[in-house]
Amino acid sequence: MHPDTIEARAALERVFGFADFRPGQIEVLDAVFSGENVLAVMPTGSGKSLCYQLPAIVRKGLTIVVSPLIALMRDQVQQLERRGVAAAALHSANTGPENAAIEAGLRRGRYRLVYVAPERLLRPDTPALLREAGANALAIDEAHCVSQWGHDFRPEYHGLAQAAQAIGGLQLIAVTATADAPTRAEIVRTLFSSPPRIFVRSFDRPNIHLSMRRKTSAARQVEDMVARHKGQSGIVYCASRKGAEDLSRRLSAIGAPALPYHAGLAAEIRSAHQDEFLRCDGVVIVATVAFGMGIDKPDVRFVCHADLPQSVEAYYQEIGRAGRDGLPAKTLTLFSDGDIRLRERQIAEGDASAERKRAEQRKLQALIALCESPRCRRQTLLAAFGEASDPCGNCDICEGHWPVFNGVVAAQKIMSAIHRTSGRFFSGHLANLLVGKATDAIKRHGHDLLPTFGVGKEFAVSEWRSMFHQLHASELIAQDPEDRDRWVFTDAGRDVILGQTPLTLRGEIAPADARAATG
Ligand code: ADP
Ligand code: ZN
Repeated sequence: MHPDTIEARAALERVFGFADFRPGQIEVLDAVFSGENVLAVMPTGSGKSLCYQLPAIVRKGLTIVVSPLIALMRDQVQQLERRGVAAAALHSANTGPENAAIEAGLRRGRYRLVYVAPERLLRPDTPALLREAGANALAIDEAHCVSQWGHDFRPEYHGLAQAAQAIGGLQLIAVTATADAPTRAEIVRTLFSSPPRIFVRSFDRPNIHLSMRRKTSAARQVEDMVARHKGQSGIVYCASRKGAEDLSRRLSAIGAPALPYHAGLAAEIRSAHQDEFLRCDGVVIVATVAFGMGIDKPDVRFVCHADLPQSVEAYYQEIGRAGRDGLPAKTLTLFSDGDIRLRERQIAEGDASAERKRAEQRKLQALIALCESPRCRRQTLLAAFGEASDPCGNCDICEGHWPVFNGVVAAQKIMSAIHRTSGRFFSGHLANLLVGKATDAIKRHGHDLLPTFGVGKEFAVSEWRSMFHQLHASELIAQDPEDRDRWVFTDAGRDVILGQTPLTLRGEIAPADARAATG
């Protein structure tokens, strides 16, 4: 162990009053003290900030911290100052004189840490200032913001590597709670000039109960959830501002202390609502995705998605705001074919490049697979982050809320439909083909003439769609790695076609049970 790591343990207690490190912190610190460039991928709440704050406190020199949100920077600076650590933040929300005073302080070497907004770091006059101030480390918080395909993309993050070079002599410490393998690779490629030491902590949050339901009446389903958690703090995510407003009103009408939060509200109202949520017990925030980054409230007891979230990463981050104190917390995510089609349309009609659209479509597929999977939610979720695990016993699938049936014949029918259409068609089209619905597209491709046409009348279109996604989630079918627009069978899929393995598929929860079963 590096001697500074031992020094850091003393500072952990002296400055922060914590008895011991959290899992993962010490490994990262040891690498940082050994002078390595580091990328630490650790779940929300695991204490990533200390991985750059403690070195800044223990070592000589100045640590620059780049963070995407001004509110987050202010918060951390305040907390550090309260603990007697000299820190400041340079950003556009300061007045001119405030920034000037901080710059003077930097020149005098007054600070251990300086938080800098990314656009400020990119300003041509900033590198000279920070060099003069003795900067020797650059911590990049929320490093996934560099990912173009991610939901938190910040264009300024792309200039960070160059800014670091302009300052010179900086050790890089990048941290994030969100990084699947492709995002991780993008962070490494974009921020680091040579491969960093990478640390990945388990993403499992075993105290969070996972549950997903098809929407029957979203407002009613959310009301039930809120009613079951009376007196407890929770967050309800909606896809639109209007949805958040409407739902917040409905919840208030049944006596729940609900407050809306979205980018359409005036800044004072937003921060008042956020403060009330943080300070009081039992407030329910009904929000768009604008809410949450940097929120550190330990006792959020439930998180509910009234609409399909943006992606698997967004889902993970949003449910991750529940149960940070380690006590049991519940989540409920509602999804519908309508949500899925809306997103497909948004992707198709957006003005992103073809490559980016395909990437977004792939992300959507992964999310649908999570919703439709017959496999343990947590297993499916962790697999999306590259982590293998066993069934968790703490999700709606493990608890057996969804009816299951022997799905071999249905799977064979779907795979036959895929085969007959050369793997070029998607769930909706294949479902129409199987139930024998001669839509324009079916006729145009002559698919009404296939022997598979109409062999699946025993299920509805929506059920076939769901089963298709289940085959994808169970990795029986996959997108051809060479040609993403084509479906191919995996080895496990071929075994099912040959009838050599059993296969369990998931049916639908009848709407009447759906309400009873979400508890
Ligand atoms: P992250 O950035 O990983 O989401 P933070 O760095 O904000 O997490 O830390 C989350 C909370 O955990 C903070 O309140 C922090 O003070 C606390 N914390 C961090 N490390 C420790 C520790 N070793 N022991 C106790 N509490 C810790
Ligand atoms: Zn499970």
